[in-house]
Amino acid sequence: MDDCIFCKIIQGDIPSIKVFEDDTVIAFLDISQTTPGHTLLVPKQHVQDIFAYDADLAAQVFQHVPRIARALRAAFPEMTGLNICNNNGEVAYQSVMHSHIHFIPRYASTDDFN
Ligand code: 5GP
Ligand code: ZN
Repeated sequence: MDDCIFCKIIQGDIPSIKVFEDDTVIAFLDISQTTPGHTLLVPKQHVQDIFAYDADLAAQVFQHVPRIARALRAAFPEMTGLNICNNNGEVAYQSVMHSHIHFIPRYASTDDFN
């Protein structure tokens, strides 16, 4: 998709800080960093939202969820919890129309963070 920001990141046309990559997915730090370590897991195939996943794509993407959660905990030892969420549709606050899963680390002291 020519006008898709995440396709441009996947193609390397826009820089990102990569957390993980294989043939089917990429994970990189969210530019907004809701909390330190905020990461997005993104299928390389341009799919708009969860409604467009078939079972194979779901397995390819979601198999990485526990691994990325553990990698973030290892990288951010102060992290004491984690929100994992996936927005689908503008009404559900999806702003980039290339499906992605948010990992938002949470810390014991949340005063400094959203
Ligand atoms: P959504 O609101 O669609 O669930 O989440 C989209 C996320 O993509 C937002 O948290 C936003 O900060 C992030 N984002 C938007 N543009 C870029 C970008 O160019 N690079 C990175 N790394 N993240 C982006
Ligand atoms: Zn895309």
